[in-house]
Amino acid sequence: MRYTVQDLLRTDIKNLVPYSSARNEYDGDAKVFLDANENWQNFVGKHNYHRYPDPLQRSLKEKIGKVFGFSSEQLVIGNGSDEIIDLLFRIFCTPYKDKTLILSPTYGAYKVFADINAVSVSSCQLKDDFMIDFHKLETICHLINTGSPETGMHKLLFICSPNNPSGTVIPLSDIAKIAGHFEGITVVDEAYHDYSKEVSAVTLMNEFPKLVVLRTMSKAWGLAGVRIGMAVAQREVVDAMNKVKYPYNLSIVAQESAMEALDHVDRVRAEVAKTLAEREKLAQQLTRFSFVEEIIPSQANFLLVRVRDADGFYYFLRDMGIIIRNRSTLQGCYGCVRVTIGSPEENESFLDACRQWEAVS
Ligand code: PMP
Repeated sequence: MRYTVQDLLRTDIKNLVPYSSARNEYDGDAKVFLDANENWQNFVGKHNYHRYPDPLQRSLKEKIGKVFGFSSEQLVIGNGSDEIIDLLFRIFCTPYKDKTLILSPTYGAYKVFADINAVSVSSCQLKDDFMIDFHKLETICHLINTGSPETGMHKLLFICSPNNPSGTVIPLSDIAKIAGHFEGITVVDEAYHDYSKEVSAVTLMNEFPKLVVLRTMSKAWGLAGVRIGMAVAQREVVDAMNKVKYPYNLSIVAQESAMEALDHVDRVRAEVAKTLAEREKLAQQLTRFSFVEEIIPSQANFLLVRVRDADGFYYFLRDMGIIIRNRSTLQGCYGCVRVTIGSPEENESFLDACRQWEAVS
């Protein structure tokens, strides 16, 4: 592999003198804090809301490290993993020069953040079963490994596993194969990992140090509204992200809520098991409808379902107050809708609406 992380980082970021907050510079046990122009009084909530939060979220990282089995030095915590995706573009890709590769159909935000950062997007279409088409990828890879950090190159390659919107898993051996060939940074987005049986790509990081693995607490951990996402990455990537992120990117409220959630691992596991059981039940019931043409086997908390007249189905449900995701115009997902696994009651309401659609369609 020709390029190191240092070679791949944007020159502006390597040279950046980051903002240094008061809380960055001191982490001892002082009694009087007159350094950050905070209010000495607290008006709402807990005793510490009048203080700025820890910019490096040290206590939270330590706890995440213990619960997830990561080293806290390998972690960057973001305001959702969306912030981490944006940060990756900002630290690696020079606007109007560098590029990214995505495996379509996949999570739409990779392209949106690329567009925002003026990074052009190459796409390699997954096969009909949502597995990687290595023949296609090799042809593209041959092309994408051209260029250089000086002239512009594909800096980031996103692999979403389990993939949104298909729910399918990319085998670890395929990820290793890609990470071994791609000259840039291979990012594996494991937002739905807690629902899958596959071993995490974190286990490949010793062998492939240019891997970055993303996780979120928005799904299995039930904290979508709190905004906690994370990257597991090697030290140089972590340092660059810390330089670029907003100094106080996670509020005290978010950090404390996440710490609290991490005390309930057993409950989270039990809820995941319930969701998986609901997913299987829903999949099984859906097969009975004549308008359902295919259910993609999922390892996430949703099902991608190919139906006859996806638009009609989508609007019928919407008029009944049931919102699902219409993916029917997305290449590779023609005729498909994506349905999140809800509570048993919500799933029953959805099935009820399906029965009514079956009767009228
Ligand atoms: N990655 C994938 C694959 C997702 O589906 C989502 C959210 N739907 C995210 C990342 C963003 O998650 P977060 O709430 O942590 O920003």
